[in-house]
Amino acid sequence: MDEIDIPEAIRDTVEIPKQSRSFLSLPLIIGGILCFGVLLLLFLFFSPLKSTQNTVTKSLPQASSEKPLVESDSPNNPTPTPDNPTPIRTKSNTTEQPANAKPNTEKLLGHLPYDVAPQSDLQAITADGRLKLRSAATAKFRQMQAAAQAEGIILTPISAFRNIEDQEQLFFGIKEQRVQDAAKRAEVSAPPGYSEHHTGYAIDIGDGNAPATNVEPEFANTAAFGWLQKNALKYSFELSFPPDNEQGVSYEPWHWRFVGDRHSLETFYKVRN
Ligand SMILES: [Zn+2]
Repeated sequence: MDEIDIPEAIRDTVEIPKQSRSFLSLPLIIGGILCFGVLLLLFLFFSPLKSTQNTVTKSLPQASSEKPLVESDSPNNPTPTPDNPTPIRTKSNTTEQPANAKPNTEKLLGHLPYDVAPQSDLQAITADGRLKLRSAATAKFRQMQAAAQAEGIILTPISAFRNIEDQEQLFFGIKEQRVQDAAKRAEVSAPPGYSEHHTGYAIDIGDGNAPATNVEPEFANTAAFGWLQKNALKYSFELSFPPDNEQGVSYEPWHWRFVGDRHSLETFYKVRN
C-alpha cells in the first residue's frame, strides 16, 4: 500500500489517465473558488442593504407611535361637553403615517387631513398649561382675550391643540358611546389625522359668562360670539365652519382658527390635489 496506489473500483470504472485527471480537476477547483467568491460578494453586498431597508421601514411607524406628541396626561377638555366629554383613555392603535410617506391630501368623510404641530412650537394659552396653540396663534389669542376682557367679555378656551390619540378617543370613543355610524359622527367631529386641532391653530372658544352654551349651537347667541364676530379678524381668527360651509361640516360657532401668518394660511388655504 502506498500513495500512488489507486483503488480498484476507480481504476476500473474511470478510465482516465492520472495526468489528465489532475489536468481536468484544476479548472474545476478554480471555477469552484470563483463561484464561491462571486456568491460571497453577492451575499455581502445585498444582505446589509436588505437589513437596513427592513429596519428603516420597521422603525418608522414604531418611532412615531412610541414617541408621544404631547404628554399623555394632558387632556384637552377641561369640562365635559357633548363634543368634548371626559376622555376615556384606551390603548389605541396609532395609524400615523411615517414621516417620509407620501403626503395624504384626500378628504375623509368630509374632513381634510392635517399635520400634527411640533411640540417645539406649542405654547400654553391657559394658566395651567393644559391647552396649547402654536406660538404665533397663542400670542394673538392672548391679545384678543385681553381686548375682550376689557369689554367684560370672557373668552374661555375649551379645546386647542390635540394630538392623534386625543382625536382617536374623541372620534371613536364618543362614536361608540352614542352608537353612531362613522358618517354621523363625522358630521360634528373629525376623524384622527383630519382635525384642524392637530395644526395648533384651531381653538374652541366658550363664553365664560354662559358656560352652559359651551360647544353647543346656542353659543351663537352669546355675547362672546357676538364680540368674536365683530373683532376676531383683527387678531386673524376666523370661523372654520360657518353655516353651509363648502366642506359640509356642521356649523360650529365655537370653533375658530388662526390664519395670521404664512404657515397657517398655507395650512388651510393651499390648494390640495
Ligand atoms: Zn373645534
